[in-house]
Order: sequence, then structure tokens, then C-alpha cells
Amino acid sequence: MTELQRDVVIIGAGASGLTAATRLWDAGLSVAVLEARDRVGGRLWTNDIEGATLEIGGQWVSPDQDALIETLADLGLDTYSRYREGDSVYINAEGTLTRFTGEIFPVEASTQREMERLIDVLDELVAEIGPREPWAHPRAEELDSVTWIEWLEGQTDDVEARDNIALFIADAMITKPAHAFSALQAILMAASAGSFSNLVDADFILDKRVIGGLQQVPLLLADKLGDDVFLSQPVRRLEYTAGSVRAVADGMTVSARHAIVAVPPNLYSRIDFQPPLPRRQQQMHQHLSLGFVIKVHAVYETPFWRNAGLSGTSFSPYEIVHEAYDNSNYEDPRGTLVGFVSDRKADHLFSLPAEERKRIILTSLSHYYGEEALSPVVYYESDWGSEEWTRGAYAASFDMGGLHRYGADLRTPVGPIHWSCSDLAAEGYQHVDGAIRMGRETADAILSDRT
Ligand code: FAD
Repeated sequence: MTELQRDVVIIGAGASGLTAATRLWDAGLSVAVLEARDRVGGRLWTNDIEGATLEIGGQWVSPDQDALIETLADLGLDTYSRYREGDSVYINAEGTLTRFTGEIFPVEASTQREMERLIDVLDELVAEIGPREPWAHPRAEELDSVTWIEWLEGQTDDVEARDNIALFIADAMITKPAHAFSALQAILMAASAGSFSNLVDADFILDKRVIGGLQQVPLLLADKLGDDVFLSQPVRRLEYTAGSVRAVADGMTVSARHAIVAVPPNLYSRIDFQPPLPRRQQQMHQHLSLGFVIKVHAVYETPFWRNAGLSGTSFSPYEIVHEAYDNSNYEDPRGTLVGFVSDRKADHLFSLPAEERKRIILTSLSHYYGEEALSPVVYYESDWGSEEWTRGAYAASFDMGGLHRYGADLRTPVGPIHWSCSDLAAEGYQHVDGAIRMGRETADAILSDRT
């Protein structure tokens, strides 16, 4: 058993843990990063599948994500815009396809007015409540006691307007059914992206991609740390006192003054904390869980939809694939579509044989793009639900009532133990930007403790 001594031990080599580790290392502290997997990056994973480079995990960058954009610049990584020329596609409850441009789906004029009104109401609430401390707002308990869908039902009788507005947060972001999380949680999600309008605007929220893949961020950060990153070292136990910690992994231990636990909160209970965490944390962590989505990649010889004047951007709350985009790689002559299948639809599809699942998903894509979508040259499903060291996608959210009850303690250290993850972030919550912000914040807290 290797025994190391460091100033700080970091558990988890995702974007958050590696940001914290490099910041501490730059400030002259010694670090060791222990990672359970045999690779770095966690939910960032750029991989070659049958000759196609695919972003298995996170990939998009939006213009408000300052921390991520700064990191990309520091690491010398370039971005390119998602393809967006031409018409988008919307399919309504009757299965009718309509092409459109702009952000608002092509619906009846009255439904459009309701959608625009709801977006305005939400923008106002989001601006008032903000991402930093939604639990501290006077209406926090009220909004945390009503589900997202109930809140929408209270606002409008227009079912299609409701379904569409629900989609932007439920299927598309939190990846839980709209009855499974609160209106306050939905407001946090929108506030963390700047506004509800930003979530509706695919050209904003899914603006850019990184040439060569977003996993380069953790890979390059890890390169900086060299031999201080240890792979295939799941931390099983964390022993701590007021001023010291000892992380016990499979083949090594690291003793340090501080620990940063940079893993998603649904995995905290996999670590045996000694002494056990305080009551408040033990309770709180049981109210946080990951949503679930299948990210589907279909690669074609050419981006055939562009010839038909389509941008590749498609939406329907009534389709198995509720949203899909042109995801072709930079300067790649092949065309890639990426689509998403969320929560209960994903559960259902995973109860079917793989070939049947593929057929259903491609059929759904063909509803948007025509018959050619049925025959990709490469087909792949990102299944983060089967990943032992993640267990879902995209990220963690509170169950009903959990956010106003526990939110204030989410980022509070326990003795020498700090928590860092995109799933705890304010700005950039559930995104790489939030992971980086949290990494910076925890590193700075440790550094200020030192002075
Ligand atoms: P993680 O990346 O989860 O890192 C945690 C690390 O801890 C992992 O490497 C894990 O293996 C390790 N670990 C866990 N337990 C232990 C243990 N006991 N001991 C040691 N190591 C442990 N974000 C965007 O900004 N844009 C997107 O387009 C986007 N799309 C996404 C698509 C998918 C399919 C998914 C899954 C996520 C997406 N996200 C996106 C979210 C984004 O990827 C995450 O928010 C971010 O990568 C999380 O980083 P993190 O460091 O906080 O956590």
C-alpha cells in the first residue's frame, strides 16, 4: 500500500476536481488527485466509436459560461459554432411536422401568446430569485412545495403551451419527469443559465463546441499535474479530524490537511466517512439524485438534412427523441445527429432489446429528418445510467421540498472536507462551467484558510 502525504487530497478527476487541484498546485500547495475510473474527465468523455469521434458526455459551451470560456482560452482550446443554418422542425401532439425559424415553436397564435407570457413570468421570477441562494427567497418554501408541472397548470389551461414550457426544464435539463421536482428547482436551473429565455434559445445554450472535444479540458489540466493524478483509485474511506484527513483508496492512502470531494453528491454515500458525517449532511444527501437521459449519436456519410434546408434542430415533447441537433464535427464531411431520450421514455427503451431500441429511436429521428435518418453508418447510445461512478445524466437535483430545506448547507465544508461539483454550483449549475466555478471556489476557500 503506497502512503502519500500532501497538503490537499482531491477525490475525483472531473472538471471540478482538476480545476481545484491545478489552482492549489499553482499556488504552491502539494496535491494528489484520486480517480476511480481508468481515465480522467468524469462526465466529459470524447471517444472514438467505429471511426467516429463522439462526445459521450458534455460538449456545448454557451456565451455566459465565463469560467469555462476562460479555461478554454488558458488551455489554448478553440471552439466552433453549432451548425444552425436553415429551418428548425417542430412536431405537435397530432404528429404534424412544421418547419420554423426563431425560438418559439410554430403553434396556434393563442398557444404562442401563452408560451410568451409564461416565458415572461418565468424570466421575472428567475431574475428576482437568482441562482446563488434560491432557498433564501421569501417564496422559496411555497415554490419548493409545488411540482414544476403543477405550477405550470396553475398558470395556464393551454396544454400545448404547458408541455412545451415544461420540456425546456424537465426533459431537456433536469431530465426528471415534470412531477418529480419543484418549481423552485426549475427556477434555479433557469437562473443558473442567466434566464429562462436563455434556455428556450438553443442558439444561446448550445452555442459552441470545442475542436477536438471537451474532454481535452480535464486531460490538459491533468497533464499539468503529471504524476499527482492517480487513476483506478476509488476512494473507499475518508478518515478525518478537525485539521487532517486520510483518504483510503484501493492501492494507496493519502494523508492531507484538507480534502476536496469532487464527485457527484449521489455518490457521497459510497465513501465511508469516519467519523460519520453530521446528521444534516447525512439527511441532505439522501434528497439529491441524478436525472436520466440517453444521448443518441447517429453518424451519416453526409449531413443530408442540410440539403433539405434544415438546420438539424428539432423539438417535440410528443416524440421519443424530444430534441435533436446537427452535431457534425469540425471540418468533418460526415454528418452527425445527436438526440436525447429522457427519463421515463429512457426507462422504457432500456427495457427493450438493443435492436428494438435502436429501431424506435431512429424511427423517431426519421419523423424529423425523413427516411434517410433510418440508416446511419455509426450509431451509439451514451448510457450514463450504467456508469458506476456517475449513475445517471446529466446531474443531481433535489427531490420535492429539498432545495429550500437543505440548499443553504449544500456547499458548507465539514471540518477539513470541502465539496466541489457542477451539481452544487449556482451559476453554471449542472454544467461544466459550474464544475469549474466550484473547483475555483473550493480551492480559494482552502487558500484563504491558509493565510
Ligand atoms: P464529474 O465529471 O462527474 O467528475 C467526478 C469524478 O469523480 C468522476 O471522474 C468519477 O469517476 C470520480 N469519482 C466518483 N466517485 C469516486 C470515488 N469514490 N473515488 C474517486 N473518484 C471518484 N455540461 C455542459 O456544460 N454542456 C453540455 O453540453 C453537457 N452535456 C452533457 C451530456 C451528458 C450526456 C452528460 C452526462 C453531462 C453533460 N453535461 C454538460 C454536464 C457536465 O458534463 C457535468 O456537469 C460536468 O462534467 C461535471 O463535472 P464534475 O467534475 O463536477 O463531476
